[in-house]
Amino acid sequence: MAFSAKKWVGIPILILLFLGLAYWLIGKIHYRLNVMDVEEYEPISTLKVEEHHLKSAKFPFVDVHNHQWTMPVQDLDKLVQEMNDLNMAVMVNLSGFRGKYLEESLENVNEQYSNRFVLFMNLDFEKLDDEGWPNETLSVMEEAVKMGVKGLKVYKSLGLTDTDNEGNRIKADDPRLDPIWAKCGELGIPVLIHTGEPEAFWFPKDKNNERWLELKQYPSRYKDPEKNPSFEEVMAEQHAVFRKHPETTFIAAHLDWFGNDLKRLANLLDEMPNVYTEIGAVLAELGRQPITAREFMINYQDRVMMGKDAYNKEEYYTYFRVLETRDEYFDYYRKRHAHWKMYGLGLPDSVLQKVYYQNALKVIPGIDSTLFNTNVN
Ligand SMILES: [Zn+2]
Repeated sequence: MAFSAKKWVGIPILILLFLGLAYWLIGKIHYRLNVMDVEEYEPISTLKVEEHHLKSAKFPFVDVHNHQWTMPVQDLDKLVQEMNDLNMAVMVNLSGFRGKYLEESLENVNEQYSNRFVLFMNLDFEKLDDEGWPNETLSVMEEAVKMGVKGLKVYKSLGLTDTDNEGNRIKADDPRLDPIWAKCGELGIPVLIHTGEPEAFWFPKDKNNERWLELKQYPSRYKDPEKNPSFEEVMAEQHAVFRKHPETTFIAAHLDWFGNDLKRLANLLDEMPNVYTEIGAVLAELGRQPITAREFMINYQDRVMMGKDAYNKEEYYTYFRVLETRDEYFDYYRKRHAHWKMYGLGLPDSVLQKVYYQNALKVIPGIDSTLFNTNVN
């Protein structure tokens, strides 16, 4: 008897263990069921404050950072109608490309809307080892400017993914590119240059990463530090170009990815008077720091321009609201860029006018200034 009692004594222990495990698991599942995915969570604010939903800019503006991908064949009537609704006087299409495509784009624009669109051209920097470099490219640029091109747009592939014949990464400050930058100065056209990516793309993809959602939705945007030049490296290469070519005007795209560090951007602008910037796709940086951003925009009112990047009529409304109003705690239009709320900067009219069009008129040649005759000032 004693033997069999000993045999049964283990069973309650096993049952207890099993119950404990089940309890723990149920707790886990329960917890999970009550936790929402970050992409799903859309709390509706209960805050009651004044709201100003602007669908049109207070002053006519130039969008200096836009991409239209079918310009040679595009029906521009609809686009111009939308531009009129927004009070966008001039759109700068940075994707002008070159050669026949560029020629046909210009023809299409000039048919009806010659003063409403500006085209920037694009070059293939991977040709820099080809015979005939740089002279062929320089004459392509001269031709393009004769045809009506008003600037050069440089994509982020330069400095990140473009390679030379040896397979080496082409740095923005590669001396083989110097003739290009110098030529832009000579021709009197600005270079709008996008270098790098938001710094957070280099950070670990974890719960502390501000751009975690974007890296989840677009995994290829992650910059593995093992396989990529660092953020600081590519930005330093870009700044070396700015310093080396003081006679050329540069527009550093996307607040030069220093929208989250406006002091640093301010220092760069102080150091390099040939550099301007624009706010395309980085509005959420300004909108989350209304006090600092307002001060920055006022102090650097001669250096910052209106830009949007990807075209979507309704998304401009948020730009107008951040720049013009003093609204509080309102939504941005793209969660992966900003899981935070926006606040209006309430910029003075004189600053708005510089950002909306006066700086663009100064930097980009040949814009029809009569489109900006406003009654204010
Ligand atoms: Zn762009």
